[in-house]
Amino acid sequence: MTPAPAQSAQQARADLTGCPWHDVKAKLREVGLRPTRQRMALGWILFAKGDRHVTAEMLYEEATHAKVPVSLATVYNTLHQFTEVGLLRQVAVDGSKAYFDTNNSEHYHFFIEDRHDLIDIPSSDVVVGKAPTPPEGYEIDRIDVVVRLRRKPR
Ligand SMILES: [Zn+2]
Repeated sequence: MTPAPAQSAQQARADLTGCPWHDVKAKLREVGLRPTRQRMALGWILFAKGDRHVTAEMLYEEATHAKVPVSLATVYNTLHQFTEVGLLRQVAVDGSKAYFDTNNSEHYHFFIEDRHDLIDIPSSDVVVGKAPTPPEGYEIDRIDVVVRLRRKPR
């Protein structure tokens, strides 16, 4: 199916560079997600800018700015769907906000508390000590490390 973009979608495409439409489509197909118009548009916005960390609110704002007609609920659902199939990684920072990472390779994060900003730490820079023994019947899926930063007092 070739996308037949409405005028608003064309505007959205003009705002984005670097990631051809068919790449997003291929990405979605590869993980078994139907490339609906909304997934395509959100995938385009998400993946066209390289590795980054977004919240649902940030992506919603970008979509609105790019004139992509989606609701915040759709953005949430899409982010969770993308995470379930491994296109995104959820980063647990605190209970109030979920951050989604377009870099799904193994790495850790600095979290700058006063800016609510995540910065990647290469996994080679952090050595996780002895992993705990998981409860009976479980295995460790992965270990997340978030190093929280605050500004030094002057
Ligand atoms: Zn990251």
